[in-house]
Amino acid sequence: IDPAVYVRKAIRSVPDWPKPGVTFRDITPVLQDPRTFRVLIDLFVYRYMRQRLDLVAGVDARGFIVGSVLAYELNLGFVPVRKKGKLPYRTLAEDYTLEYGNAAVEMHTDAVRPGQRVLLIDDLVATGGTMLAASKLLQRLGANVHEAAAIIELPDLGGAQAMRDSGIPVYSVCSFS
Ligand code: IMP
Repeated sequence: IDPAVYVRKAIRSVPDWPKPGVTFRDITPVLQDPRTFRVLIDLFVYRYMRQRLDLVAGVDARGFIVGSVLAYELNLGFVPVRKKGKLPYRTLAEDYTLEYGNAAVEMHTDAVRPGQRVLLIDDLVATGGTMLAASKLLQRLGANVHEAAAIIELPDLGGAQAMRDSGIPVYSVCSFS
């Protein structure tokens, strides 16, 4: 079986969560099973092991889980892209709009050095608002965003495609329509 299909089969779809009409794609079963967890991480490891990266940046909160394990396996450092108000040192923030209201992601100003090649990772790209804000923040810090990686892409929402169109490559293990 294709490893991406193996991972996809383990993702749980929860109807009407967090609100009616929305189907939440839940990766917790992928992480819970040691075989799917390993297959998932190995997919990313093989994709990026020859890419001369400097850092992995993981998005709060599920991006931390896969991003930190991947960074460790690739022998790279890990930096967090957090929701606003969580980081203690000097920060830079990037605001973005959600379906209802606004949100912001934040990083420490010394999290990346100019010119560093950074892999950005989260669990899922929907509208792409979160990943795009994180990419802009990294670019404002001088980083070269090598690629934005996710376990899941929702192609119907067009976010991943919009990011590709704006010049940031996006890789996802699987899609749900
Ligand atoms: P976007 O900003 O619209 O692309 O939404 C992506 C962000 O929302 C990511 O940080 C995801 O963790 C989260 N998210 C949105 N929908 C889902 C889902 O169905 N499953 C898991 N996370 C989701």
